[in-house]
Amino acid sequence: MFHTEPKVTVLARPQFTEPGHLAVHRMGESTDGERLAEFAGRLCYMSQRNPANRATREYLENIKKQGHGSVLEHATYSLLLEGVSRSLTHELVRHRAGFAYSQLSQRYVDESEAHFVVPPAIIGDEALEGAWKAQMLSAQATYVALVDQLMSRYGWVADKIHRRKMAREAARGVLPNSTETKIVVTANARAWRTMLELRSSEGAEQEIRRCAIAVLRVLTAEAPGFFSDFEVYQADDRREAARISYHKV
Ligand SMILES: Cc1cc2nc3c(=O)[nH]c(=O)nc-3n(C[C@H](O)[C@H](O)[C@H](O)COP(=O)(O)OP(=O)(O)OC[C@H]3O[C@@H](n4cnc5c(N)ncnc54)[C@H](O)[C@@H]3O)c2cc1C
Repeated sequence: MFHTEPKVTVLARPQFTEPGHLAVHRMGESTDGERLAEFAGRLCYMSQRNPANRATREYLENIKKQGHGSVLEHATYSLLLEGVSRSLTHELVRHRAGFAYSQLSQRYVDESEAHFVVPPAIIGDEALEGAWKAQMLSAQATYVALVDQLMSRYGWVADKIHRRKMAREAARGVLPNSTETKIVVTANARAWRTMLELRSSEGAEQEIRRCAIAVLRVLTAEAPGFFSDFEVYQADDRREAARISYHKV
């Protein structure tokens, strides 16, 4: 199967439980993650009374403007990314501060029926897609043959799970960067902002840029107060990109 879009699923979001003795005089619409960040920010100055009568999202706008990014670190979102390539995740996992990852293991998981992610630049060109797909299927056939032969070669290894791992970890070398993978990504809102700023911009590689835009849409729906200063636009290369108002808080 060939993927042409990432699939982004929210696995976890903050659940805020406000302590009654320090309740914030909250205004406007908000979600738990935003309320948690507002609570944390207001605790610093004990401004729970909300003297400026700011709605939660206005308050967070000011936090971003002032560069008080640490307040945003309290809210953490976990996403499941599917339909993304291993070359995408290779770039994604470079984002370290505030991130946690768990990715499908090619040593343990059989990739005989792995899917592949069509590079965005190829989509829509029949000849290019044909050549690319033929190459993917050929690599996969080589993988299947190698696993089979390696299982025989290491038949003397009594532990079958270990033997399979030996075979798969060697055979995976022929699988292309475009092999589809699945990854759970957890990050706080500040870390997501940094990653999204870098990876949704025009300079980013096209697949991770497309994924960053998809993640941005999901997270903006979750918590506009953290992400509403991103603007998605159609770039000169006719693909979507995003720019941010409050750079790297
Ligand atoms: C368009 C593009 C092209 C790229 N090309 C390449 C390439 O060719 N080769 C390559 O190797 N990488 C490349 N990268 C990856 C890049 O070098 C970074 O590793 C990646 O963007 C993560 O950025 P970061 O370190 O700022 O992020 P994070 O790890 O998310 O860190 C966020 C911020 O926290 C701080 N921080 C995190 N860790 C530390 C630390 N250990 N010490 C001090 N401060 C820290 C920094 O301020 C950092 O900006 C590319 C990235 C982009 C966006």
